[in-house]
Amino acid sequence: MQIKTEEISLAILKQKKIRLFVKRIDKVHPFISGNKWYKLKYNLIAAKEKGFKTILTFGGAYSNHIAATAFAAQEKGFKSIGIIRGEEHLPLNSTLSFVVESGMELHYVSRTDYREKTTPDFLEKLKVQFGSFYFIPEGGTNELAIQGTAEILEANDPQDYICCAVGTGGTISGIVNSSVAKQKVLGFSAIKGSEQLEKDISTWTNKENWKLITDYHFEGYAKISDELIEFITSFNKERNIPLDAIYTGKMLFSILDLVAKDYFQKGSSILAIHTGGLQGNKGMNGRFGLNLPTK
Ligand SMILES: *Cc1c(COP(=O)(O)O)cnc(C)c1O
Repeated sequence: MQIKTEEISLAILKQKKIRLFVKRIDKVHPFISGNKWYKLKYNLIAAKEKGFKTILTFGGAYSNHIAATAFAAQEKGFKSIGIIRGEEHLPLNSTLSFVVESGMELHYVSRTDYREKTTPDFLEKLKVQFGSFYFIPEGGTNELAIQGTAEILEANDPQDYICCAVGTGGTISGIVNSSVAKQKVLGFSAIKGSEQLEKDISTWTNKENWKLITDYHFEGYAKISDELIEFITSFNKERNIPLDAIYTGKMLFSILDLVAKDYFQKGSSILAIHTGGLQGNKGMNGRFGLNLPTK
């Protein structure tokens, strides 16, 4: 697939003799955002082949995965059901109104029940309630998703470091699997705590050339600082690249901070994957009265 890669020019990069590129997989589809497009690809093919009519998945009320799944399911002729963490809030936020418009049926479960979501018992209850469905886990990560995310990094991406944002680890795992041994894959964790994540990525990958960077989560998922907002706003104004506040903004901020701290070898090149997620900025804008870019 033809995906654009843009080089970023900045004084700090020139000074440190580092070249930084951004691969715009956020542009792969207008509504099935970035990495989620790759994660859904083989799952929806499998669902169709197995004759399923309905896709069921889980997520939070602002989830990029829920938004992407709703649209992709509709595009491929499936009915979709979203099990949403927490209570219903009306009017629906930007993410949930989008998914309802895309034909997704929403069911809310309490935070306590939501924690049980992967137990066989809970899934069995859902089958009784909704009939047969093709199940996609929260965040969309499973083996078929990783088969898809392996297509993000292509043979003509020659950079020394490949960087991506990490939530469940499905995206970085695919990238590691298609990287070459001399490339180093760095994952920037959007959440606090990474032990389980490290284990998961180890089981999904076939190489050791990766590392999780965990000290730039800005206090955790969906927490935002003024510094980060300022960075995203000026990056969009000066480079014309919109970043989201949960994943790609934190990643780019961190990469530039690491460049300043001489983390990367002089003369090396970095490819940052823009995994999308801009629909999430709409939710941030709505909740916090911000003006983050949304496309
Ligand atoms: C979901 C998402 C991620 C995290 O992907 P995982 O495969 O769960 O690690 C990263 N970036 C964006 C923009 C996302 O929406």
